Formats: sequence, C-alpha cells, structure tokens
Amino acid sequence: MEEKQVLFRHIKQLFPVLDEGISRVEGENMQELQVMENAWLEIKNGVIHDFGSMKDCPGPPAGTKVVEAHGRLLMPAFCDSHTHIVYAGSREKEYVDKIRGLSYGEIARRGGGILNSALLLQQTSEDELFEQSMIRVHEIMSLGTGSVEIKSGYGLTLEAELKMLRVIRRIRESVPMNVKSTFLGAHSIPMEYRSDPDRYVDLVVKEMIPAVGRENLADHIDVFCDRGFFTPGQTARILEAGARYGMVPKIHANELDYSGGIQTGVKFGAFSVDHLEYTGEEEIQALLKSRTMPTLLPGASFFLGMPYAPARKMIDAGLPVALASDYNPGSSPSGNMKLIMSLGCIQMKMLPEEAIYAVTINGAGAMGVEKETGSITRGKKANLILTVPVPGYEFLPYAYGSNLVESVWLNGNLI
Ligand SMILES: [Zn+2]
Repeated sequence: MEEKQVLFRHIKQLFPVLDEGISRVEGENMQELQVMENAWLEIKNGVIHDFGSMKDCPGPPAGTKVVEAHGRLLMPAFCDSHTHIVYAGSREKEYVDKIRGLSYGEIARRGGGILNSALLLQQTSEDELFEQSMIRVHEIMSLGTGSVEIKSGYGLTLEAELKMLRVIRRIRESVPMNVKSTFLGAHSIPMEYRSDPDRYVDLVVKEMIPAVGRENLADHIDVFCDRGFFTPGQTARILEAGARYGMVPKIHANELDYSGGIQTGVKFGAFSVDHLEYTGEEEIQALLKSRTMPTLLPGASFFLGMPYAPARKMIDAGLPVALASDYNPGSSPSGNMKLIMSLGCIQMKMLPEEAIYAVTINGAGAMGVEKETGSITRGKKANLILTVPVPGYEFLPYAYGSNLVESVWLNGNLI
C-alpha cells in the first residue's frame, strides 16, 4: 500500500530514539534505552519526518493516514546482519542425527553439513533457488526484519557461488527490505580439496573473487576462519583479494576455538566478526581498539546445544554487541529476531535494553546501514514495527514464543 504520509498517534513507547550521527551504542550505554512515552511519529515520503510527545501532536494534514497506536510500541524494523537464507532444501535429517548424539564436527567430517547443502544447491536451478528463498524472505519480513545480510557459501564452485549471489541480487530487487550481499566462497573446504586446502584458497582468490567483483555481486566478503576450516593466513589472503574489489570483510570467527579469527577481522577493518563463542581477554582487547562490531548468533548455540558467546563480558568491558539470526539450514533454521532477543536475554544475560540495541542500531552497524536505519531518528528510512498492545518493551523478549508484531512498515509503506 502506497502512503505518502502516515501519522502514528498515542504510541505507548517509541524507541530507541537516537540523535543523528549515532552509529552504535556500546558498553554501559546499552543499558539505557532512549524511550519516548506517549508519543507520535510522522512518516513523509518513506522516511521518519518527525516525532514527539502527544502533548504537542500536530493535527494531521489532509490526506494523511492516521494510525491510532494506543497501548502499542513502535520501534525500528530488525536489522539481521548475518543470514544464509538462500539455500536449497532443508536439513531436518541431520537435526535428528544431532538429537541422536552426533556433533556438528562429526556430521561435517562425514561429508554432511555445509557440503550436503552445497551438493543440493549445485543441482538446483537459479529460478527454483529464488522461489525457495523468497518463502523465507517473506517470512522474516512479516516477523519484522527490515534489513538483512545474505551470504553465498553453499555453492563452493565458481558457477554455484555466482548463482547464489545472483539470487541475492534478485531478492534485493524484489522486496522493500535493505538487502546486503556477502560472498562466502570460503565457507567450507570441498571434499576434493581436503588434502590441499590452499588449492581451494587459490580458486577463491584467483577465480571466484574476480568473477564476483566483475559482476559487482557482493558488498562484503566472508571467510569461515576457525579450527578445521580456514586458517588466519588463508583468511588474510582471501580478505586482501576481496578488498581489491571493494568488498568489506564480515567474517565467521571463533565459533569452534580461539582461532585468531577475531584478530584477523580487526586487522582487516571488518564491519563485523561473527559467532565469537570463544572470546577471551586478548580478543576483547583487540575489539576494543577497533570499530569492528562483535556479532553474536545465539540461535546457533541454542540449536546445536553449544556454548554461548560471552555477551556479558563483552558489554561489561565496554564493547557494543549486535545479535543476528544466522538463519541457515544446518545450525539455525530460524530468522525470528524476536526469539533471538529472548535467547540473548535468557541465555546470555543481556538486559532487554541491550538486546533491543543489539537487533537495531548495532545490527545496522554490523552491515553498514546505520546511517539509513536502526533507530528512531529524523531522516532515517521509515522501516518500523508496530506491536500489538503490550505492557512495555521488556515484554518483547519475555514473551519468547509470541509473535507480537501487529504491522511492519518498510520505506513508509505497510507490507
Ligand atoms: Zn553463519
């Protein structure tokens, strides 16, 4: 529905209200949610035009759609900065294997895991892949996601990686969400390269990256820098090659071990380092000296029954934290960002205020869209979630199984 002008009135809580130019919220500031009670907000031409207290609410000009928001909360649409939602099929059989006791590592060593998805994807046509992925895209949009980063990485051949990235481009052209694209050719080492992984790195560096760069298919570059996957040295080679095509790093790091991935990401000026289950004092010190956003994926820890990243320690040390869904078929088959907030609170001891910043402005920072979205700020895109009536913002992560989204607005339009 096209609306030039929309006025929300009697909003119970409007948050997080941030001044222009604030690109992230870190450390103890994350505990202080900037909330405006009993507020109004006006959308004009797709952006947040103005807002304020109901005491001085303007009369709606003719032609304005008025939304009476009594008892409801209005917040920015979620910024999910780490997903793998372009994939073929699903992996519920492995899920059952896991219940029976096999570890992620054991499943990967048997040629399952990422390689299983890669095989299926290579056999799936581009149109079919697009159709399958769009079901998930519509799902997350209806759950309130307004910005999403999507990775390749289930191709692992030049042709299949390009296919994935073209599907991501089609998604961007098909929906009103902010879509960022990441090339993740180095997601896993294909079986035929297991005895000589450097040969696969050669393929990524010399063939895949130039081809992706020529078609301008990726905003970012990612590497699974971890024990049993790619070393910091191999990661550095890949990030250097990506930089030549303007791809900013966002890397998988320290999910399985103290792998050196965090330090490698920081060294290359990554927008974000993601996972971080294994983060110690050294890693925290490296992050404190950087602008790299630590991005945590509690959905994967929950689904795999593995340790959670030490969010509390990071925030208490003064770091910002972003939360993302990691929506993927193997380790986190959900893109429900409200559930991710709950996991952050329940399992990682984040306060609701911290979780809200983590899925809005800090998530935006983790994918480079913080100037456009992620907070209630004049001039930012009107990408908004209106909730059903609830007691207050703490209720969002508390009611962990309820979908409390009443409506989602992207670029000022009701979707
Ligand atoms: Zn991931």
